[in-house]
Amino acid sequence: MNCIVCGSMTSNGLAPWHTTCRYCDYESADLAAGINERNTHAGLDEGDRETALRALRVENFEAILDETIHFAPAGANAILDVGCAHGWFLEAARGQFKHVLGIEPDAALSEQAMAKGLPVRAGFFPGVLEEGEAFDVIVFNDVIEHITDIHAALAACRERLTPDGLLILNLPSSRGFFYRLASVLARLGVRGPFERLWQKGLPSPHVHYFNHRNLSRLVSSSGFFPVHFFELPALRMRGLMERLRFTGQSNRAILWAQYVSIVCAIPVLSMFPSDAVVCMFRKR
Ligand SMILES: [Zn+2]
Repeated sequence: MNCIVCGSMTSNGLAPWHTTCRYCDYESADLAAGINERNTHAGLDEGDRETALRALRVENFEAILDETIHFAPAGANAILDVGCAHGWFLEAARGQFKHVLGIEPDAALSEQAMAKGLPVRAGFFPGVLEEGEAFDVIVFNDVIEHITDIHAALAACRERLTPDGLLILNLPSSRGFFYRLASVLARLGVRGPFERLWQKGLPSPHVHYFNHRNLSRLVSSSGFFPVHFFELPALRMRGLMERLRFTGQSNRAILWAQYVSIVCAIPVLSMFPSDAVVCMFRKR
């Protein structure tokens, strides 16, 4: 297989489904997606998942929107959120953009978002867009790493952005502390954390892992140039207990021990590269 970033031959990675590029450090996975297939959703309580994720996500989205205002083209009023899930980013963006639109392929999630009155279309990007529909900003929040044909997705972004339009990719980084720790553990034969970070076995696993450099190289080759890069904290205090409960731990003593150790770890972790990064690109 050839690397999608630099074209070099890729090498076997840390699992039978994992490959890496020795030249640019791009990593990929051959993991099957099962969006809208009932069995992959079984065992996942979407309600609990929503509570567990919400606080962290909303705080991150507000941070992304603060930066978006600085880099969006002058007079920007239309923003597209690809893979909008519950619509939390749309809710936050509504205050700053006149026209917001979300696209969501997971039928259950898109129905939930529409039921809240959010402008969401069910289906895939760019198929559900109308002819000539264009946006000043297109954002992918934890989505681009799931898209197999990323070249086609980037070409569609270029086509659907107005002149000087802004592309925002919020995604996991292979330079992140937890990803590197999970890679070390996988090398030692402990594959659980590594599989979890790739979301192996979940409805929509990751197929790519980038770092800031190889992502910039890939996106630049599709007619963009990088304008801004920043990290999101991998852990935040808000909603931490809900997230820990979601992992299935019901023993209160263990739960509190986990909570306290993570709270103590937050300042230490902030000294290492984060697992969540945001890269902004302008259409060339
Ligand atoms: Zn490469």
